[in-house]
Amino acid sequence: MVSVGQHEYIDLMTYSEVVGVSGYIGNFKVQIRKKARYIDENLCTGCGDCVEGCPVEVLSEFDEEIAKRKAIYRLFPQAVPGVFVIDKKETPPCKMACPLHMDVQGYIALIRVGKFKEAYELIRRTNPLPAVCGRVCYHPCEEECKRNHLDDPLAVRALKRFACDQFDINELEIPEIEENGRRVAIVGSGPAGLTAANDLALMGYSVTIFEALPEPGGMLRVGIPEYRLPKAIVKDEIGYIERLGVEIKTNTRIGEEITLEDLRRDYEAVFIATGAHKSRKLGVPGEDAEGVIHGVDFLRRVNLGEKAEIGDRVAIIGGGNTAVDAAPVARRLGCTKVSILYRRSRQEMPALEEDVEAAEAEGVDIAFLVTPVRVLVQDGRVSGLELIRMELGEPDASGRPRPIPIEGSEFTIAVDNVIPALGQVSNLDFCKGLGLEMSRQGRLVVDEDTTATNIQGVFAGGDAVTGPWFVIQAMATGRRAARAIDQYLHGQPMHVGELEVLKPPAELTTQEIEELRKERDIQHRLPIPELQPAERIRDFREVKLAFSAEAAREEASRCLECGVCSECRECVKLCERKAINHDMQDETVEVEVGSIILATGFDSFDPTVDLRYGYSRLPNVFTATEVERMSNASGPTTGGIFLADGRQPKSAGILHCVGSRDEKYHEYCSRVCCMYSLKLAHLIMEKTGASVYEFYNDLRCFGKGYEEFYNRMLEEGVNFVRGLAAEVTDVAETPEEEGKLIVQCEDIAIGRQRRIPVDMVVLSTGFESRTDADEVARLFSISRSRDGFFLEKHPKLDPVATMTDGVFIAGCCQGPKDIPDTVAQASAAAARVLAMISKGRVETEAATAVVNEDLCSGCKTCIALCPYSAITFVSQNGTGVAEINEALCKGCGTCVAACPAGAITARHFTTQQIMAQIEGVLI
Ligand code: FAD
Repeated sequence: MVSVGQHEYIDLMTYSEVVGVSGYIGNFKVQIRKKARYIDENLCTGCGDCVEGCPVEVLSEFDEEIAKRKAIYRLFPQAVPGVFVIDKKETPPCKMACPLHMDVQGYIALIRVGKFKEAYELIRRTNPLPAVCGRVCYHPCEEECKRNHLDDPLAVRALKRFACDQFDINELEIPEIEENGRRVAIVGSGPAGLTAANDLALMGYSVTIFEALPEPGGMLRVGIPEYRLPKAIVKDEIGYIERLGVEIKTNTRIGEEITLEDLRRDYEAVFIATGAHKSRKLGVPGEDAEGVIHGVDFLRRVNLGEKAEIGDRVAIIGGGNTAVDAAPVARRLGCTKVSILYRRSRQEMPALEEDVEAAEAEGVDIAFLVTPVRVLVQDGRVSGLELIRMELGEPDASGRPRPIPIEGSEFTIAVDNVIPALGQVSNLDFCKGLGLEMSRQGRLVVDEDTTATNIQGVFAGGDAVTGPWFVIQAMATGRRAARAIDQYLHGQPMHVGELEVLKPPAELTTQEIEELRKERDIQHRLPIPELQPAERIRDFREVKLAFSAEAAREEASRCLECGVCSECRECVKLCERKAINHDMQDETVEVEVGSIILATGFDSFDPTVDLRYGYSRLPNVFTATEVERMSNASGPTTGGIFLADGRQPKSAGILHCVGSRDEKYHEYCSRVCCMYSLKLAHLIMEKTGASVYEFYNDLRCFGKGYEEFYNRMLEEGVNFVRGLAAEVTDVAETPEEEGKLIVQCEDIAIGRQRRIPVDMVVLSTGFESRTDADEVARLFSISRSRDGFFLEKHPKLDPVATMTDGVFIAGCCQGPKDIPDTVAQASAAAARVLAMISKGRVETEAATAVVNEDLCSGCKTCIALCPYSAITFVSQNGTGVAEINEALCKGCGTCVAACPAGAITARHFTTQQIMAQIEGVLI
């Protein structure tokens, strides 16, 4: 292998796949997909340092899944080239679902192995507000977690919060930033503005945020209540962004002293992220009475420490975030009767179910299917509400059932305050002068990918564009804006295309879900600790608490590691040669070759399908390859042969012809199993001293040396039982069979049924064609025989050629064979290729079809019929004619017979030539 790899004329392309072949003998063009290794082959020295840091372990295919390997691995120590590869499957659904595409699987893997600091660093790589998100993110990652198919999704948000709680962000070092002196203005300091500022500052920009309120943070600071998101957390995370060099000018409302036009003039780019802070009105009489305070205004006052005068009985109108946050806040302010009035039913409530339940637990009353028709006013102050009951009708534009008032169902309730929380709209009056395009809903219109508005150099994101949404969504728009602004300021075409580098995960099929359920134990999500309702309504202390380190590690261990590599990037830190590149992409190259040799091998028969032998059900039933792997000194057991519980077997039964010579599976003989069964018998006896039984049909010890080996095994004491095993069971019938596997068979030599108890059963599985054989055959235009292997041109006279000239086959892709036969066949194929090369020309069939272009009508009948794809259609002077590629034509005559215009003839077989031949014979 090494000399092949180093040969100057051999270009060894490992981890590559042929994806397309065109052309013909002497002129093949082969497209090859070089799969991303995520490791630069030229830099990797194969030192293996990277493996140490990898927290992900999966079953090793090379070790027959007896041992585990890391996600960064080398298939086997002698692999050529000896470089590593990172096993990345699809993008994990959690990462895909996260609008910031955080490396969720990565930080969870690091938490699992107790690397909390590393987990925190990884979280911060993609999220500048992780402690905020660890508390209030609506966690789309959890909705998509594949564990949903099993028990409960992973507690991703709580794990993120756990990692963040382990560190004091104020002690986090500031990276070295190379300033570029270019100025960018951001309007609004909510999550969208802060994320854009963070990213731009890291790129070297000088960023100023203008914020209307006295405190930065947007809804994080003035919307979400303290008991869900402590102000100190928001302050600290904003503080870090400020330490990156971002200036935040609070109490500065753009549109007043400073206008948007001023910013456009003074800064090279502007990002507008002013959110949606204007409350929607109720639209009922009495709404302007004293005691009516809109939801976001109420929350803002409380959050800014201003006085919010409310009475004992409060009615909150709405079913979204604001309503469900305002109610517990009112409870904490001492109101005893807090009611949420919602016009639809519980299922339609936009607020998160967990928040709704928490509010109820705190004594908030929720009335469904009611809406106010009037605010009752006494002496200019709210005294009550007149409500009407609703019923649900057909879905409206939002997809939810339309609430319809039930006539005559009006009733009144007495309240001291009304808090309408019907959602918010944006106040974008300050944008009008610049001519920014607005939607009918009064939001800014932007390019979804780049966040660019219709005015050059002005970008917008967050709730001001989308309407009230979520923190993580707002942050994602901030990130896109930063990238696009950077491109814009460098005069590059703007394109973010963040999804383009991800490999979207496929939906699990029903079968995959069933397999998952079989493979994994049910392990429910650990409960997230929280304060009890009676305790929490006393003040604004944070309700949800953090996992303990133990609980966090246990919860993290529930991750199914869907993407294999978790992208935790620990390997990057350990690779001195800087050979690792997680952003590497697959690459397609084209090579031109004159001939092709296929040596794609075989698959081993999977004995799981044959229930008689108990494979994958009975722990001590192994396949021959598994035992072979165990017996290898560099294998998973360093050469020892053991039972599943680690003991050495005292007896073993080797069952021949599993999957071969069996009309249920493959009728052919796999040729090599008899001999490797004997080899395994020898190894088992030598390494364990066990007594070995060979259950065989007839032994095929063909060729030189094999019969001698069989005789040696007889001498060594192998017990040969003539009769294939009918079943392997662990149901004992005698005390001697207790705790053993019993091989039942009919011993033909003595003509009776036998039950032979053994510790270990080894299945000598046959060979079968590879699962992708059909696809490969199609790709190279070759045929398969009835048994699925590739078909040779002639079994005796041309065993390495195929029906496609220039394509040869060697080894087990053509049929089961042992190593000497494989080598001989490969040499034969090489000789055929070399003969062609040394001739310097290609010989084709003499008898090929010829098109008479004057007669050809261009009907294409011949093209559809040609079994060798030798005919193409060429346009000529407005019409078209068939053209025959003589290198591909085999002169079969199908086209000659089918051509309706009689335009195709077979060379050397014209009517005159045939007649002349007949005459020659007759005269
Ligand atoms: P904002 O956060 O609204 O920030 C905009 C900023 O711009 C504000 O600070 C504002 O003062 C400032 N501004 C406005 N106009 C000007 C101007 N002319 N000049 C200067 N500054 C200006 N999302 C979740 O994911 N999870 C939750 O649990 C959650 N709970 C919520 C609870 C409530 C009560 C509310 C109202 C929203 C909640 N959200 C939640 C939604 C989330 O807070 C918003 O989607 C997010 O904050 C929007 O971010 P943004 O940056 O676009 O705007």
